[in-house]
Amino acid sequence: MPDHDIFADAVARLDAAFQHADIDQEAVQRLKQPKQILEVSIPVRMDDGSLRVFTGYRVRHDDSLGPTKGGIRYHPNVSLPEVKALAFWMTFKCAVAGLPFGGGKGGVIVNPKELSPLELERMTRRFVELIADFIGPETDIPAPDVYTNAMIMGWMMDEYSTIHRRRTPDVITGKPIPLGGSLGRDDATGRGAYLCIKELEAKRHWKPSETRIAVQGFGNAGQHVSRLLHADGYRIVAVSDSKGGIHKAEGLDVPSLIRVKNESRVLQAVYCEGSVCEAVQSDVITNEELLELDVDLLIPAALEDQITKENAARIQAPVIVEVANGPTTGEADDILNRDGKLVVPDILANAGGVTVSYFEWVQNRCGDSWTVEEVHKRLEKCMSREFNAVNSMMQEKRIDMRTAAYVVGLNRIGAAIASQGTARFFAHK
Ligand code: NAD
Repeated sequence: MPDHDIFADAVARLDAAFQHADIDQEAVQRLKQPKQILEVSIPVRMDDGSLRVFTGYRVRHDDSLGPTKGGIRYHPNVSLPEVKALAFWMTFKCAVAGLPFGGGKGGVIVNPKELSPLELERMTRRFVELIADFIGPETDIPAPDVYTNAMIMGWMMDEYSTIHRRRTPDVITGKPIPLGGSLGRDDATGRGAYLCIKELEAKRHWKPSETRIAVQGFGNAGQHVSRLLHADGYRIVAVSDSKGGIHKAEGLDVPSLIRVKNESRVLQAVYCEGSVCEAVQSDVITNEELLELDVDLLIPAALEDQITKENAARIQAPVIVEVANGPTTGEADDILNRDGKLVVPDILANAGGVTVSYFEWVQNRCGDSWTVEEVHKRLEKCMSREFNAVNSMMQEKRIDMRTAAYVVGLNRIGAAIASQGTARFFAHK
């Protein structure tokens, strides 16, 4: 559990951006609180016959640009401030990505690794039953997040469709392909970050073979960005997961790492099993050490609050691309900016996932299915357009890239609010 109010920290970023944005002060005041919060208790019959009651949340932060959109996280550290912060980031991510969506998020306080598959399915279906009137294809559309996946999205879609007595694939994205999932959704977050890095490569004239990269978090997002960069010849010198990390100055063999990690579920297997360990020939490092390595690019792709005021001054990487949501605290941001680091912020760098989720929703709503090439082409167009929009704002206003991304988001949300007319937004009698 973070030792500071993560939501307050997230919202504080608006004040810096507001000075440069074209939006009404009252609209910003409104954006400092979520629109709706739902908290539910989820009773679940366990396999041994006992009962456990889990707590779940769904938060809709703002829907000025469209239905709220955002993932559902299963994690023991889920808390309401965290879900509110994640919903807030979704509002700005969707705005920065140019999508017709607002921001939402959900979570259940649970360690899914402790549940059997049947217990996990029962808990998931019960959670959907409890939030079934809160979500919907035109109001609030969930997706996967940490420790939830396509299979869980499939159960959610099935449960929602059963409750509403009609097939509703557009209520949830990140589904398995046979249930209406989109090709290209599985690696979309990693690919979006990769496309941002390709923009940086062109602007900064990086040579992949000379560019050393450390990746914290080797789950869905971390693995795909590592795989794509490795295929282009980049040197991924360190990766880690919740149990620790590995480092190899000459660069790791990413495809082998992915195979071993996915067979064994933990990176530990890579350095604990003799034969693989010898093949990889890497040093074991902690997550803290990974963040402070002498590398050219650092990719936090695990959880929030990893770069804090305690370690920010020790970060050596000149460029940080935030694949995780909220990996850098506000205080750490000030230190990184002071030290001249370039931080490509989460609301831009990890927007590939929600962009392809939007493609999935569009395909579901018109009964279409696109080829993976079509998805990649559209994603590339979006990421390049929005990376350059934020980059231009950063240069024009002479501000850091995170503030620039918030300015772009605030301008778009502000324009939508102004177009609605302020009476509906600020109803006062
Ligand atoms: P995931 O569950 O697939 O993987 C998370 C990884 O982080 C795992 O390898 C886990 O072992 C590791 N991890 C957990 N705690 C850690 C710690 N303290 N130190 C180092 N590693 C740790 O999750 P994911 O989908 O890859 O998401 C990772 C981050 O990316 C999250 O912040 C998530 O919100 C963000 N994100 C994901 C998507 C998506 O589409 N998957 C989209 C946008 C943002």
